[in-house]
Amino acid sequence: MAKQYDYLIVGAGLFGAVFAHEATKAGRTCLVIDKRDHIAGNIHTENVAGINVHRYGAHIFHTNDKKVWDYVNRFAVFNRYTNSPVANYKGELYNMPFNMNTFNKMWGVVTPAQAQAKIEEQRAAHFTAEPKNLEEQAINLVGTDIYEKLVKGYTEKQWGRPCDQLPAFIIKRLPVRLTFDNNYFNALYQGIPNGGYTAMVEKMLAGIEVRLGVNYLKDKAELDALAGRVIYTGPIDAYFDYALGALQYRSVRFETELLDCPNYQGNAVINYTDAETPYTRIIEHKHFEFGSTEPGTKTVISREYSAEWKPGDEPYYPVNDEQNNALYARYKAMADAEPHVVFGGRLGEYRYYDMDKVIESALECVRVQLDKINQYGQYCLFEIFTQQAADPYPWGCRLIFAFRGVMKDLIFALCYGTIKTV
Ligand SMILES: Cc1cc2nc3c(=O)[nH]c(=O)nc-3n(C[C@H](O)[C@H](O)[C@H](O)COP(=O)(O)OP(=O)(O)OC[C@H]3O[C@@H](n4cnc5c(N)ncnc54)[C@H](O)[C@@H]3O)c2cc1C
Repeated sequence: MAKQYDYLIVGAGLFGAVFAHEATKAGRTCLVIDKRDHIAGNIHTENVAGINVHRYGAHIFHTNDKKVWDYVNRFAVFNRYTNSPVANYKGELYNMPFNMNTFNKMWGVVTPAQAQAKIEEQRAAHFTAEPKNLEEQAINLVGTDIYEKLVKGYTEKQWGRPCDQLPAFIIKRLPVRLTFDNNYFNALYQGIPNGGYTAMVEKMLAGIEVRLGVNYLKDKAELDALAGRVIYTGPIDAYFDYALGALQYRSVRFETELLDCPNYQGNAVINYTDAETPYTRIIEHKHFEFGSTEPGTKTVISREYSAEWKPGDEPYYPVNDEQNNALYARYKAMADAEPHVVFGGRLGEYRYYDMDKVIESALECVRVQLDKINQYGQYCLFEIFTQQAADPYPWGCRLIFAFRGVMKDLIFALCYGTIKTV
């Protein structure tokens, strides 16, 4: 029986929205659901006293990919926000990432050669040939002063453990810039969408049916019956009811306050790099939209506390260590055996994805999906053999697709000695 929708998209985050937009544009019918009461997933912004507040943590769009940059610019006008965080170490302010401004403030050096010599001097004095922990690794990379003031306390708060008990591999590089450039990212394109991310995602989802407050896992059978295929962007372990155990995450707790003050800290991001301040950073949201907002009389700040994650908490950063990656691989094998479900996005694939990478991945996912139906017969053949109709095409149509696909594969195999799978 033909299903009501071609795709049920679980999750109205960036992955789900891009997929839904592209599939709809290609003539497929989509239903998007989310268990939250809002769209945009973790990039959701909400308007508080005229300020777009990043509810799930500061999000700065940055990419080197012109295609992705052009893509997002179809849904929003981006401002020229450049992320230039400042570190506050017991009241001393330093520019980040470590650059000539930082070194001048720290040591009074003026030229790149002087800064380089100072770093080398500090590295050499405490060099460890085979660093056994994060502390030794960081000192090897940047020397003692930068480590003590700008790395140690912040990292310990982030991981909830002393640096000499953290593995060295966590810090592979600590970029040092011998220029006066405070731009945190090296990306070619960077900015924040005017009006916030939610407005951008709203445009992606324009004309598409969205149901909020719907938990897919609670009414799975009923929801599955509505669509040919499911694009699932929730946690992969939750999909399988944690059959193999829970994957681990690092969590963040946000303490957000509306203040009667036009400008609290003069910058969007201030990191607190000492160990005593309990939070890792304070975000002042209005500075993300500088130039596009009036100074006003109020401001909104969020203090961020790094937190241990336990099942039931909001999952933020996947812990991609050996143990969790191995567990994910087992879940992935189970996911591959679900013929009509595609797992995507940061939770579905258990990986940290920046926004540009999520868009790239969703675009690729939709391309493969549409290819499967339009150009290749393998999938239809599979459906005929398994008697599982996942798309709205009549059986006769599927037979033609299958025949076309087999012929194509045959020619491909004759030419290249292998079969191209989709
Ligand atoms: C603190 C933090 C800061 C970040 N900052 C940046 C940044 O500055 N720049 C950058 O490029 N990237 C940043 N990112 C990454 C960015 O958040 C992700 O790339 C993006 O949100 C991923 O989108 P997604 O659609 O995969 O996931 P999500 O946004 O998490 O969307 C998944 C959606 O699925 C829904 N869902 C889950 N389970 C179910 C269910 N059972 N039923 C119904 N709905 C369900 C969820 O409610 C959610 O809305 C940051 C990430 C974090 C954690």
